[in-house]
Amino acid sequence: MNRVRLLVFNAALGALDYRVPNEMAIEPGSIVVAPLGPRQIVGIVWEPERLPAGEVPDSKLRPLIEVLPAPPLPAPLRRLIEWAADYYVAPISAVARMALGSNAALRGGGTATEYRLTGEEPSRLTPRRAAAIAALRGEQATIRELAAIASVSEGVLRGMVGAGLLEPVTVDIDRPYPRARTDFAVPALSDAQQAAADTFVEAVEKHGFTPFLLDGVTGSGKTECYFEAVAAALDQGRQVLVLLPEIALTENFLRRFEQRFGVPPVLWHSSLKSSERRRAWRAIVSGPENGGAQVVVGARSALFLPYRQLGLIVVDEAHETSFKQDDGVRYNARDVAVIRARFEGIPVILASATPALEAMYLADTGIYRRIALPDRFGGARLPDISVIDLRAEQPERGRWLAPRIVAGMRERLAKGEQSLLFLNRRGYAPLTLCRHCGYRFQCPNCTAWLVEHRLSRRLACHHCGHEVPVPDACPECGAPDCLVACGPGVERIADEVADLMPEARVAVVTSDTLNTPDRVADFVAAAEEKLIDVIVGTQLVTKGYHFPELTLVGVVDADLGLEGGDLRAAERTYQQIAQVAGRAGRGEKPGEVLIQTRHPEAAVITALAAGDRDAFYAAETEARRDAGAPPFGRWAAIIVSSENEAEARDAARAIGGTRPHLPDVAILGPAPAPMALLRGRYRYRLLINARRSAEVQRIISEWLGRFAFPQGVRVSVDIDPYSFV
Ligand code: ADP
Ligand code: ZN
Repeated sequence: MNRVRLLVFNAALGALDYRVPNEMAIEPGSIVVAPLGPRQIVGIVWEPERLPAGEVPDSKLRPLIEVLPAPPLPAPLRRLIEWAADYYVAPISAVARMALGSNAALRGGGTATEYRLTGEEPSRLTPRRAAAIAALRGEQATIRELAAIASVSEGVLRGMVGAGLLEPVTVDIDRPYPRARTDFAVPALSDAQQAAADTFVEAVEKHGFTPFLLDGVTGSGKTECYFEAVAAALDQGRQVLVLLPEIALTENFLRRFEQRFGVPPVLWHSSLKSSERRRAWRAIVSGPENGGAQVVVGARSALFLPYRQLGLIVVDEAHETSFKQDDGVRYNARDVAVIRARFEGIPVILASATPALEAMYLADTGIYRRIALPDRFGGARLPDISVIDLRAEQPERGRWLAPRIVAGMRERLAKGEQSLLFLNRRGYAPLTLCRHCGYRFQCPNCTAWLVEHRLSRRLACHHCGHEVPVPDACPECGAPDCLVACGPGVERIADEVADLMPEARVAVVTSDTLNTPDRVADFVAAAEEKLIDVIVGTQLVTKGYHFPELTLVGVVDADLGLEGGDLRAAERTYQQIAQVAGRAGRGEKPGEVLIQTRHPEAAVITALAAGDRDAFYAAETEARRDAGAPPFGRWAAIIVSSENEAEARDAARAIGGTRPHLPDVAILGPAPAPMALLRGRYRYRLLINARRSAEVQRIISEWLGRFAFPQGVRVSVDIDPYSFV
């Protein structure tokens, strides 16, 4: 009797046993189709001793239907999936799902049909068709994707196919990717860069797990160094995964990659078209030979893909908090990348100018190998940083920029240089109220104010996407023209700049304006060609960019990130400001950074002004040690939510009432979460603070495993949380 255990993609089912028909060849990791009731499901063959399932007698087993034409998931990946499920207290099926591209990709091969404009433009067009044609210029995608791009129904587009305005194009899913040329443009490295690159190359050639912290100041050429390791892995016929924190950064990366290797890398992120996704997944699983994927650049979701021959992982801007996923499986891609490298037996490079405190600590204790690049490349100096005490140097009434920043910008404008103002707040104003009755605009679904966006004339919630047009009168008291904007967002700062320097060309850079790769490319080109004098941006402009003519950086409100008292507030503020400061003076001209604050005495501000990174990390490390926070102790959160307030509260209390009492574990709560209402769900939270030695995951699983809650209640566990909302 040939019995097999499947991991199936349904957390409630977990694992199921099947019979293998005689002629079918399977092995652990094989991706197969099996019957379930009247349906067919996809599953992964798993080692039965590693995956418990219900007892079913041999005679009751149904046979597998087929093996899908994709290589089996390799053993190191299976171990990684198990590890992540255990560590993050997540269903193993939810983790495993991240390894599979799409059902279509599993079927493999073949072609996909996409559509594009024929170029036919009759003189008489319905307005809807005319708008669709305008929106679809240069696009080629499935009908469904085009409908999303053009904001019309699929029916409209099908009509346009019938009318000869759109035509089908057959896309070959398995067409090969061009080969990277590791000798295409080998840079001349500085001595320090060469030493770093040699160390990486040696580790790649030796194989074996080695975690590196590439700790190099902004502009030191970290990318150039790790590219040499990438080249070494490719020369060995292996694959490389480069993780970037957000898609906005890929544009810059792609260009540099292409300059170095002559071809673009393979991209993986959530907004790929379905045909691109299928093609990339097939290329990743088929390995680096014969036009398969050599280098994959992706957001965190690229981490669990079934690379056939991984030789190196790079996590760039490794300190970025967007590597932490805050829904579904709540994992931290930076940490999982290191674990994956361990299972694969390969080097991993974490690159950052402002490493996470945890990573610094691991490097200090010798667990990570630190490779330092303390100087900028080519003799560029780090910028001078000074502090503007807003209590002493006040902006003019109704304005947000102190005279020194304004003078600095004027000077740069006169010299044809560029300035960057950083404020981590989208929109025009974070709060709008009625001058007459005091009414405040709040989101109906979230514990949050609505943010005014003047560009789109709307009030929007940044948590759930709820939007309303800005009304003419107060919805509460009915008074006309009575709404006042409180506090600044980037749009308001941009208005102020336009007011002060009407001749300056100002660009607002946020996720609202830079939301597609094309727009990022346009922005970069405009900044490089000096078509922009002043950039006003959120955290999106703090990293990655290299504009040699940018010589002044103004931090509009350094105190913003320190509010809220979250565990990593000081660290995050330090990182953001150090990163945005790193945009200044990257070319031949020296850079200057001005930081506006009401707390010039705060440790993070004095450390930034003195350029004393070590002092900051030392003080922060002691604070974490005292608080029993990571890396010295561990935090975990349990979040209980429901659309029904009483149900959420009752469930949270029931959990709280059965808390385990253990000497090395403190459990706080339940209490309403700071975001007590989020996307229409009421939220309660318990916080767990434990010694490193405590088996937090086992404790939580056993504790929560006893409960069965009503349908609408969701209980999620967040191990090593980043967000405490
Ligand atoms: P980091 O990532 O450390 O901030 P970058 O990798 O962006 O630094 O490098 C800063 C700039 O210096 C980039 O424009 C890069 O192309 C350039 N650069 C760095 N090292 C070299 C080198 N060895 N040869 C030529 N240009 C270099
Ligand atoms: Zn909301």
